[in-house]
Amino acid sequence: MLAGHQEIKSYFVKIIEEKRVPHALLMLGPEGSGQLEITLELCKMLFCINPKGGLPCNSCKTCHKIATFVHPDIHFAFPVIKHDKFKREETTSTHFLKEWRQFMTDQIHGNITDWLKAIGGSNKNGNINVAECHQIIHNLGLKSYEGKYKIQIIWHAESLAKEGNRLLKLIEEPSDDTIIILIANNHNAILNTIQSRCQILRIPAFSDNAIEDHIRGKFDLSEQKIKEIGYLAEGNMRKAEELIGSGQINFSTDMLEWFRKSYMCDPDELVAWVDYLNSLGKENLKSFMRYTLHFLREYLLAYSFKTTDNLKLSDEEKAVIIKMQKILDRNKADQLNYLFNKNIGYISRNLSMKIMLMNMTFKINEILRAEVNRFV
Ligand SMILES: [Zn+2]
Repeated sequence: MLAGHQEIKSYFVKIIEEKRVPHALLMLGPEGSGQLEITLELCKMLFCINPKGGLPCNSCKTCHKIATFVHPDIHFAFPVIKHDKFKREETTSTHFLKEWRQFMTDQIHGNITDWLKAIGGSNKNGNINVAECHQIIHNLGLKSYEGKYKIQIIWHAESLAKEGNRLLKLIEEPSDDTIIILIANNHNAILNTIQSRCQILRIPAFSDNAIEDHIRGKFDLSEQKIKEIGYLAEGNMRKAEELIGSGQINFSTDMLEWFRKSYMCDPDELVAWVDYLNSLGKENLKSFMRYTLHFLREYLLAYSFKTTDNLKLSDEEKAVIIKMQKILDRNKADQLNYLFNKNIGYISRNLSMKIMLMNMTFKINEILRAEVNRFV
């Protein structure tokens, strides 16, 4: 079930009711904004046998076919790589349909890199070729099986490049029962000739609440963790799902522990602590450091406005902020911010995590031990 995006759903209900569903739609939105889900939701609204108030019932056989990606009147095109049994110029989405359905089942918020990884390609060589465009023209020329619409979804339409021109006639002179939906993140990569012929629908990033609701319904995590993921994901559902992998780590406790141990600077404790941080793995470490940056940003806001109201933090974290103000002034918080910002960039590089973490620990000690300037 699709979380959030109420306004878009209401908009769909309205245009279906008023019979002005566009024949060519360009869904533009940032990564992880649920474009594919919202597109399928529109399909359900158009096809559902038993809609209620314009919304799909999610239980009829048509809704079921759409949810399992097997509706015969909904066609998918997406970038592919050469298929084992075919020449590259002959390979189309049809040859990867099984993998595509699996991908939509497992990671509907995935991006192009995730998809190409799923079919064993690098992100350089996936594209939508001439044969695919012919296939699309063919698909939409068929008679619809169920007598309603024929819908062609083109995912990651950026991969069309100039081949997109082959689809112009189709977009320009559609038959009454066809709808073409292009999904893209970057409008600069879509030909102007296509953009000008499509109705453009901008999908915003998810709200923190929508992300939290989605996670709450699907995963067994503490409320504190759900909130952490909510603001760290920055509206990107793909990122949120990635962060769930770090579900066992309590970022705020670990951050304070790092600060405390750095301040105390007991050698044995530090070695054990760095071992622990290193054991989290690079991706979790990145998320953890991003959390620390988020905390410091909120900390500085609290420091400037002399209030913890409106901060994107839990009550426990706000209590920590109030306590910390005695030892952490603006200058120190700025220095910590700089330190974490710089080092987060090092994580992806091929260097020793342990040395990096130990260096950071000494630097945190230096920052925290410096005299507090009470006048800043
Ligand atoms: Zn239905």
